[in-house]
Amino acid sequence: MEKDFPVSGWSSLAVHGGHKQDPLYAHQVPIYATSTFVYDNAEQGMRRFSGEEEGYIYSRWGNPTITEAEDKIAALETFQIKSNNNSSFPVKAIVHSSGMAAISTLMMATLKAGDSLLTHYSLYGGTDELLEKVLPSLNITANIVDLRDLDKAETAMRKKKYRMLYLETPANPTIQCVDIEALCKLARKYDTTVACDNTFASPYLQQPFRYGADFVVHSTTKFLNGHGTAIGGVLLGKDVDLMKGPVTKVHRLLGNNASPFDAFLLIQGIKTLELRMERHCSNAADVANFLEKNSCVAKVNYAGLNSHPDHIVARKQMRHPGGMLSFELEGGLQAGINFMNRLKMCVRTVSLGTCDTLLSHPASMSHAGIPKEQRQQYGITDGLIRMNVGIENVQDIIVDLEQALHS
Ligand code: PLP
Repeated sequence: MEKDFPVSGWSSLAVHGGHKQDPLYAHQVPIYATSTFVYDNAEQGMRRFSGEEEGYIYSRWGNPTITEAEDKIAALETFQIKSNNNSSFPVKAIVHSSGMAAISTLMMATLKAGDSLLTHYSLYGGTDELLEKVLPSLNITANIVDLRDLDKAETAMRKKKYRMLYLETPANPTIQCVDIEALCKLARKYDTTVACDNTFASPYLQQPFRYGADFVVHSTTKFLNGHGTAIGGVLLGKDVDLMKGPVTKVHRLLGNNASPFDAFLLIQGIKTLELRMERHCSNAADVANFLEKNSCVAKVNYAGLNSHPDHIVARKQMRHPGGMLSFELEGGLQAGINFMNRLKMCVRTVSLGTCDTLLSHPASMSHAGIPKEQRQQYGITDGLIRMNVGIENVQDIIVDLEQALHS
C-alpha cells in the first residue's frame, strides 16, 4: 500500500517519498534478497509475463527495494515542479549498478548509428572516455564546445544536427557551470534532446527538469548515498513511455540493474540529504573564504565566490553553490604532493559526496596518465587539489588544511 498524504517540505518527501507499507508491517523497506519471484500457478505466470498483471518476475527486471529507491528519487527530482496543466510532473527513474551504467543506458537507448552528441569539455573522465573510446565504434560521435558560451553552442547546433546535448553542471574539477535553462531553450529550437548529469548538485540543490531537461543522470555513489557505502546510479526521464519501453529494455538487456542491498543503503542515505547538503554547502563556503585569503593558494574554484566565472549561473539555477571546490597551490606538483601527505583528519582519496572531507590531487592521482599540456587545457594544473567538503565541524577542517598548507 502506498502512503498517500501531502507533504510541503523537502525532507518530509526525502523521508517518506516512495515508501510503501510493508505487508508484514516492517518499519523499514526490507532488502528483497531474491533473484526471482514465484507465481501461485502457471496462469499467473502467464499474466505476469504478458503484462496483464502487475508484479515482479526477476530481479534484473525489477525488485521492490529498488522500486522504492526509484520512486523516492523521482519524487525529489520533480518536487514542486508543475506540468502545463498544473498537475504533478511525471518522470520515471531507473536505478542502476553505477553512474556509468546509467549513462551507458541513456546513450545506448536514445542514440543510434550516425547520431552525434554535443557536450562541454569539462566532463567526468569516465563519461569522456565512453564518448571517445566506446561510442565511436558504434558510429556515434561527440563534439565538444564551451557550452558556457551560448553563441558558440548555437553556432555548433546551426551547423550540424545533434541528437543530444549532454550537460554536467557543476563539473569536475574546476566547478564550471553551464546555464541549463538557456541551453534547453536552444536545444528545443534545434529539436535536440537534453540530458544533464546532476551528480555534483543533487536534487536538493538543482532540478534540471525545472529548466527543461529531458533526462537527468546521477552517480548515486556520491551525495545521494552520502556515506560512501555503495556504487550506484540513476537515470530519470520525463517521457515516461520511452522510459518504460525502450529505455527499460536496454537497462534490462545490458544487465545494468542495481543490487537490492545497495538500493537499501541509497534509500537510507537520501533521507538525510537536505541536512547533509546544507552542512556541506555552508562548510564549503567557509573553506573557500579561508583558502582565498591564504598565501599558499594561488586560486580557488568555488561557484559561490564572486571570483568564479560561473557564479551568476550557479546562483540562478542552484539553491546553494554546492559542497565541492578545487584550489591551486603555489609551488606546483611537489607542493600538491607535500600538502596531501600532511593531511591528518581530512581523507586522501578520490570520489565525493561523503560525510567526511575528501581531497584528491588530480595531477599525481586520477589524471597522472594524461599529458600535462592536455590536462592543463581543462584547468587541471600541477598544483590543483579537489575537495569534497564534508559535514564535520568546519573549524576542524580548516585547522587540518592550515597545518597541511604551512607545516
Ligand atoms: N558523473 C559524475 C559527475 C561523476 O563524478 C562520476 C564518478 O565519479 C560518474 C558520473 C560515474 O559514476 P560511478 O562511479 O558511480 O559509475
